[in-house]
Amino acid sequence: MIGAKGRRGSGTTQIPGTSGTTQIPGTSSVPTSVRPVVLKGIPGSHGLAMGPAVVMGAVSHSFVRRTIKHHEVDLEVSRFTEAVAHAQEGIRQVVERVQSSPARTETAILDAYVQMLGDELVAEAVERNIRINRQNAEWAVSNAIQELCDKFEDLEDPYLVERRHDVAFVGERLLRALTGGDKNTPLPRLTRPSIILAHDLSPADTAALVKEPVVAIITEVGTRTSHTSIMARALEIPAVVGVIDALSRIGTNDSVLVDGFRGEVTVSPTPAMIAEAEERSQRHIALVRNLREDRAKQAATADGVPVHLRANIEFPAEALLAVDHGAEGIGLYRTEFLYVDRASPPDEDEQYELYRAVIETVQPRPVTLRTFDIGGDKFVSTFQVPPEMNPALGLRAVRLALSRPDVFLNQLRAMVRASAHGDLRIMIPMIASLREFQEVRRLLGTAIREVDARGQKRAAHIPLGVMIEVPSAAVMADLFAREAEFLSLGTNDLVQYALAIDRTSRSLAYLASPFDPSILRLIQTVVSAVQKYPRPLSVCGAMASDPLAAVLLVGLGIRELSMEAAAVPEIKEALRRVALSEAIAVAQEALTQESAEDVERALAAAFAPRLFDLLADAFPEAQE
Ligand code: PEP
Ligand code: MG
Repeated sequence: MIGAKGRRGSGTTQIPGTSGTTQIPGTSSVPTSVRPVVLKGIPGSHGLAMGPAVVMGAVSHSFVRRTIKHHEVDLEVSRFTEAVAHAQEGIRQVVERVQSSPARTETAILDAYVQMLGDELVAEAVERNIRINRQNAEWAVSNAIQELCDKFEDLEDPYLVERRHDVAFVGERLLRALTGGDKNTPLPRLTRPSIILAHDLSPADTAALVKEPVVAIITEVGTRTSHTSIMARALEIPAVVGVIDALSRIGTNDSVLVDGFRGEVTVSPTPAMIAEAEERSQRHIALVRNLREDRAKQAATADGVPVHLRANIEFPAEALLAVDHGAEGIGLYRTEFLYVDRASPPDEDEQYELYRAVIETVQPRPVTLRTFDIGGDKFVSTFQVPPEMNPALGLRAVRLALSRPDVFLNQLRAMVRASAHGDLRIMIPMIASLREFQEVRRLLGTAIREVDARGQKRAAHIPLGVMIEVPSAAVMADLFAREAEFLSLGTNDLVQYALAIDRTSRSLAYLASPFDPSILRLIQTVVSAVQKYPRPLSVCGAMASDPLAAVLLVGLGIRELSMEAAAVPEIKEALRRVALSEAIAVAQEALTQESAEDVERALAAAFAPRLFDLLADAFPEAQE
């Protein structure tokens, strides 16, 4: 049925809210007389789904616009005045928390927001819209803010032009205060299987989807490696991200067909389109079911060279899914998702219990716990990190951890205690210099001593490894191979930082390719480093779950890949069909190419005919 996740196998996990029958959710309401509209986006998570859309997300997109009556004018003006006070109070509380925290970061920008909220120009414009144009408070605020943003846009000074983001932020705070959108109500309650459409989804919103009958996700922003896509793949929900104009083209209750293979969204699809999608969906489900039958076999190339395939997880519950898909343990547990949507970080005991549960689920296989990678596009409220111009280049991951040793030590102690229950490794994200690694190693030593002093159990040795995802770490990989016990290439960020392309940028997504020869050369540098100082080396970025890329990585010398659990059977099959010597030959050719397109062409020429059924959903022409 459409609505089942493409990679889902024998039906052990169902799309929330779907019955498992062959009925396509929502097809009965398809108006055949309406012309279909096809919108292009980026495939965020494989699979096909059909259903009614439900619009949610940024308040600025979803509040009610209403012309008010004369007697409502004063009421709307006072609603606005109260909203200003409420929004200012909210920001002041943030300022207080930041100032009383050990990090004591700069709060000037937040103070400026408080002032902007009370700005007379804004108040006058809003009041004018309410009293003269008879707009309700939300509408009046939205128009006033838009006018202000337009004025900033026209300025010559690039610094001032950038300030329009601050004005928009202030407008969003006001709208949230007016609509109550600042109370944690991320998702509407869904009464039937639906497709969620939003400008963007926070990690908390996406996590909340598990509890609702969501059959697919569409967002206006995002790329294949942004957090929404990563989580949709983990939840096995089809997703198309980066559909630029989705909110202006799709409304709540519109019938929508989501194609997470091609990255397409069709509004009001014709019966023929639905039938074609249904046919492809069935074909893919049959393929996945077949592949899962071999899930217990060791992954190896056609000539028997073993490759270890492990799973990336975001939630403890996924550990079972990893085992079920035949993964040899957890290669990356993104522990930052434990910090999502809560006022204070999870305490040591809570973390210990969760890590222990994951370890016990997958034992005797290994579990690699990554210390929290918060910041960048994974901003969560636990830490009041002041807004930065470039959050991806700011206080993120290990940098944030080292600025909050109290919180970091809490996590390290929980990990140390969990090591008593199985094969546990600790991995550090976003390391850019050896000093940072050495500082983390020192803190891990402190955590171990503290656990020992309490008489609590732990493993005799806990391997400490680094993610290689900042170009400086790739270039210095020999030093990291000398000092760290294992290395893991985070290609999502390596691409972002090496090519200087924000991984959430929709407009530059076409350039952010892991096939870029510069990325392949960085990977080669890291492979050479671990030949000099032998250390386990894996790839845990999204690249590992692409069949052609996986073959290429093996050709470059990688023998361990970590990916979303659902991709494991497919990648196992892809590797089984290619001999190591062929993979090496293509990898050598790839390293000499000029562009990502050339690399993809070389790979497709060598392997697409052999892997056509694994690639067919993404490239339907491969099957013709
Ligand atoms: C990566 O950057 O490739 C990675 C695996 O980490 P994340 O996607 O969580 O940043
Ligand atoms: Mg990363």
